[in-house]
Amino acid sequence: MARRAGALPAGVGTTLPVFAVRAAGGIVEDADGNRFIDLAAGIAVTTVGSAAPRVVEAVTKQVADFTHTCFQVTPYESYVAVCERLNALTPGDHEKRTFLVNSGAEAVENSVKIARYVTGRDAVIAFDHGFHGRTLMGMTLTGKVMPYKHGFGPFAPEIYRAEYSYPFRGTGDLTSTLAFLDKTVGAANVAAVIVEPIAGEGGFIVPQPGWLAGLSQWCTSNGSLLIADEVQTGIGRTGAWFACDHEGVVPDIVATAKGLGGGLPIGGITARADLVDQVHAGGLGGTFGGNPLSCAAALAAIETIEADGLIERAQAIESTMTARLRAMQSSYPVIGDVRGRGAMIAVELVGSDGMTPDPDLTKRIAAACHQDGVLVLTAGSYGNVLRFLPPLVISDELLDDALGVLEKAFASQSR
Ligand SMILES: *Cc1c(COP(=O)(O)O)cnc(C)c1O
Repeated sequence: MARRAGALPAGVGTTLPVFAVRAAGGIVEDADGNRFIDLAAGIAVTTVGSAAPRVVEAVTKQVADFTHTCFQVTPYESYVAVCERLNALTPGDHEKRTFLVNSGAEAVENSVKIARYVTGRDAVIAFDHGFHGRTLMGMTLTGKVMPYKHGFGPFAPEIYRAEYSYPFRGTGDLTSTLAFLDKTVGAANVAAVIVEPIAGEGGFIVPQPGWLAGLSQWCTSNGSLLIADEVQTGIGRTGAWFACDHEGVVPDIVATAKGLGGGLPIGGITARADLVDQVHAGGLGGTFGGNPLSCAAALAAIETIEADGLIERAQAIESTMTARLRAMQSSYPVIGDVRGRGAMIAVELVGSDGMTPDPDLTKRIAAACHQDGVLVLTAGSYGNVLRFLPPLVISDELLDDALGVLEKAFASQSR
């Protein structure tokens, strides 16, 4: 940690001051031999585990063949195969096209570029509690000022923020959101509405049923595009390939990243063919996008999800976790809400009025879990959400163990 402080800027944060030496099967092991149960998955990245055998094998083979050619200089088959898989797996059976980038933020940037290009409009609608990355467009779209935007302006123009549906807090009613779009921004100016189907960094907020579909219908009626930011929710995390699937919503553009590469950096933009094919040659792409190692890893990760039944596993994790957390809620009224889908589950911690956010308790519970060997993350616009993102390969025994540690943390910290 001393070397880190001497070599890195303070702006790069640390959840847990330990150094990992290996990780697999829901365990992260540090340089001192401590073993942590992993309820973070590197922020929803290692969905198939941190050393999934198919991923390790595919990447090892690819690295010996070649590391890079740049797809736009000399293409390779695995890039095309990843695009074919995303075209088939993302919601809707319309004709689609995909291209690959390096990160979630880049997938978001490109989604906005395409939407503005094909609509010829400027305005982009984002939401409270939304998170879309740390680049200029990503942070502009992001709702929370601290730590993501504070001091980093001026921001990109023509971004408007609407209320996200937040059932626990009773905010974000669809009718008033649509009225805001019509009256304050003007439907004819809206290139795109960009939305996380479940707000990730915002605290795993699952919108009111029908809210996403309402946005989608509004977009269709007004010639605006619906961009689903599935960077955190996508690729099996929520117990479906994409979180939009739970609501039967078919977006015009889907941004993916995190879980896609089995731990290697890769992002995807999957768009309606009739839209994205309008963009001129050379307008999209990048030097590293769809690196051969990342493509080999992504194909192996997708195969692992299919072959090992990990979508069903995410559903089972949801049942186990929500049952245990709801039982804890009846003993510990500081748990105001238990929510999420699949292996993307959270609890929101509140004061004795059942509503006031309690970020201090949230920090203490997280610290108690870390002390007792369970890696959990906090989230939420008010910093009062504990979020759980286990790799889908975690065993029932480890999950049970982790929930026991969490319960002990509630017993010792909340009174
Ligand atoms: C993490 C995240 C991003 C940004 O992804 P990076 O790979 O960190 O750039 C964008 N959108 C959502 C919903 C995310 O969770």
